[in-house]
Amino acid sequence: MSYTHPHCPECHGLLQAENKQLHCPACQADYVEKVCCDVCGEQVETLKACGAVDYFCNHCNSLKSKSKVVRSYHMVNQ
Ligand SMILES: [Zn+2]
Ligand SMILES: [Zn+2]
Repeated sequence: MSYTHPHCPECHGLLQAENKQLHCPACQADYVEKVCCDVCGEQVETLKACGAVDYFCNHCNSLKSKSKVVRSYHMVNQ
């Protein structure tokens, strides 16, 4: 199982998880993770079951595995 740690889109430093957000100590900025469908680009729903995480795209009406989705990080305006 390979979990790649999220990186800051600005400075490419490692983001730290804080509550439900991600924090970049270098930029002093907070980010939220968006998980989108690889096909249509719409945000997908996160389904958690038995420790495994799957994603569901309401737009394509199909289940997405972890490797199929596209993750991006967006700065939170404060
Ligand atoms: Zn940064
Ligand atoms: Zn889709």
